[in-house]
Amino acid sequence: MGLRIVRSDRLNKLPPYLFVEIDRAKKKAVSAGRDIIDLGVGDPDQPTPRFILDALHKASRDPKTHKYALDKGMPELRAEIARWYKARFGVELDPDREVLPLIGSKEGIAHIPLALINPGDIGLVPEPCYPPYNSGVIFAGGEPHKLPLLAKNAFLPDLRHINSTVLSKVKLMFINYPNNPTAAVCDKAFFKECVKFAEKHNIIICHDAAYSELSFDGLRNPSFLETDGAKGVGVEFHSFSKVFNMTGWRIGFVCGNSEVIEALAKVKANVDSGVFNAIQIAGITALKKIDSVTKSANALYQKRRNIFIDGLDKIGWSVPKPKATFYVWAPVFGRHTSVTLAQALLDKANVIATPGNGFGASGEGYVRMALTVDEGRLKEAVARIAKII
Ligand SMILES: *Cc1c(COP(=O)(O)O)cnc(C)c1O
Repeated sequence: MGLRIVRSDRLNKLPPYLFVEIDRAKKKAVSAGRDIIDLGVGDPDQPTPRFILDALHKASRDPKTHKYALDKGMPELRAEIARWYKARFGVELDPDREVLPLIGSKEGIAHIPLALINPGDIGLVPEPCYPPYNSGVIFAGGEPHKLPLLAKNAFLPDLRHINSTVLSKVKLMFINYPNNPTAAVCDKAFFKECVKFAEKHNIIICHDAAYSELSFDGLRNPSFLETDGAKGVGVEFHSFSKVFNMTGWRIGFVCGNSEVIEALAKVKANVDSGVFNAIQIAGITALKKIDSVTKSANALYQKRRNIFIDGLDKIGWSVPKPKATFYVWAPVFGRHTSVTLAQALLDKANVIATPGNGFGASGEGYVRMALTVDEGRLKEAVARIAKII
């Protein structure tokens, strides 16, 4: 007879992982033989560029790469990250103390609360948001406090109206621009406000910049670390996944405040053994060509965005054109809620969209659609949606 397996309270506190539910609905539809257009998950459809595959292939043949990675990642990768940061943002980073490779940025985002939060501490998280901000805080025994991202505030959190009892317990705050799921961008003035807020209330800022390089119409997104004082209060997470179509590879990095980075490195030294060396070498090769890769990725998504949004507009669904990311944050039409619209899109149009409230209550009234299918399929999606408007 087996044991009765009882899950930990912290695990039970987590909301169901959104994409698992959507995946289940999708698998059911696909196995029923339906032709589904999946705009649900933010995973690029394009392959990883060939030159990065070649770099991995070559590096993987060198037995030196087969051993455990160094705790803090390869010095050459950290140096290349610092070089790119200087060139791209004008920010100086000490590769030894202010840069740390991650097994995908999600890994670092989920672990950083373990390095900083005590039971009873509060973590400010935007809402709607990328789920690991919330779960990371809960795993660390902290309490997430949601900051709604609303259209009337340009999807920026309102830092001026947070209850002072809450504020006194806040240890860290997650922010994320360009934003998933709202596709909103922020300017340097917002980052400046965050630094002031952090200094005043002693709050560590964790900025998730996974989409910093994906932008349209010539927009250049700033780094949080460009702001005066930012390095004193926080860190910034980056990902190779979205720009380089490397979601499955698991490589990202965090940079900024050296004490925060050292604390995270200590957590990681106890739970993982770093990124496969050959992948780190491929990452160096990737970063060296980031400018040209970014340019073609942005051209591709911008074209798709225009086709999709202009198409929706023509059939009577007016959706704002995102300035960055590959997401479309679409207000529901008619009498729909997020869930009834997503359900109708799946049942009647064979299109998968993610209900906005799955990312948090303030996402009610929206669905998120990802521009990660080709132009033909986006046109087909518009034609199918036309029938249910
Ligand atoms: C995709 C995504 C990430 C990270 O991805 P990794 O593959 O773990 O590097 C981080 N933040 C947001 C908001 C994302 O959408």
